[in-house]
Amino acid sequence: MSFDLLAGHGQVKSFLLRMIKKGLLPNAYLFLGPYGVGKTLCAKLLAMALLCQEPGPTGGCTLCKVCKRSLEEKHPDLLILRPEAKVISIAQIKEIFHQISSGPYQGRMSIIILDHAELMSREAANSFLKTLEEGPKDTLFILEAPDENMVLPTIASRCQRLRFLPIDHPSLSSLLKRDLGLVDEEAQILAHIAKGSYKWARELWESGLFPLRTKFFAELIELLSLEISDLVMRAHGITEQYPNQGIGLMYLLDQMETWYRDALLGKLVDKPTFYNRDFSFQIYKFAEARSLEALVRSIFSILCAKKDLKNDINPSLVMENLMLELKRAEGDL
Ligand SMILES: [Zn+2]
Repeated sequence: MSFDLLAGHGQVKSFLLRMIKKGLLPNAYLFLGPYGVGKTLCAKLLAMALLCQEPGPTGGCTLCKVCKRSLEEKHPDLLILRPEAKVISIAQIKEIFHQISSGPYQGRMSIIILDHAELMSREAANSFLKTLEEGPKDTLFILEAPDENMVLPTIASRCQRLRFLPIDHPSLSSLLKRDLGLVDEEAQILAHIAKGSYKWARELWESGLFPLRTKFFAELIELLSLEISDLVMRAHGITEQYPNQGIGLMYLLDQMETWYRDALLGKLVDKPTFYNRDFSFQIYKFAEARSLEALVRSIFSILCAKKDLKNDINPSLVMENLMLELKRAEGDL
């Protein structure tokens, strides 16, 4: 049945079902949590539960026309807005006015989902705020964002907040085995590396980058042993090899982060749970050759590089800086 389609998030699901049963739904929800953990699916399942003509104890029936059309995002009373070119524009917000003014077509209510609500332009956010303040009848807004601080406070304060945690590793591993046909060991490593995000895990697998980990790690260790001039040249080479379009470079940085994180854990904890458990031997060796301070400093540099990449700073420059910082952390500069 309906909410069972969402893996994990037991508390969120039972809370929503209770609210539906008691008829206590607010005007707007703000779903908060990391990328790819199931916020949009949960929003669609909530829509299904409200639109389905014969809902059961766990939400929509999943079998009727209404449920199927809701899941396929084709139901006329369900509007899902997603950013176009990294922004939700005022033109998109106007679609909401249109939807609301014509009222529900088939069901009892309209459901409007704003995926990545944090990417509304200022104009769009102000315009949306007015709609929210008016509290249109028979309409439920579901906004999604990674963090409350990224949404206009006047909008966030008008929504009931619901927090989504990363999917627990056993649930995510099972999903990856079911959907991608992975064997247990692969699924567990991928679930760890994707930090509980189903979408991220899936993207990594489908991009073909995941099996390249062995090459990444060998390259990383080799890079750190290079002289500065060679290192800078190689840093540029990496940028060309894994262009920042799509997920290449970001994945590389994520991989580096898990490597250093494992090394740090190996130094601090007796029986650590490594992300890269299939590289335990090499990680212990790496950790042994470095100080605690060097590892912490390196992780910090990688996090800064990831932030720079997200802010569209030239990838070549980001990689060059990062490699120099990693060398500096090791006391080689
Ligand atoms: Zn149904």
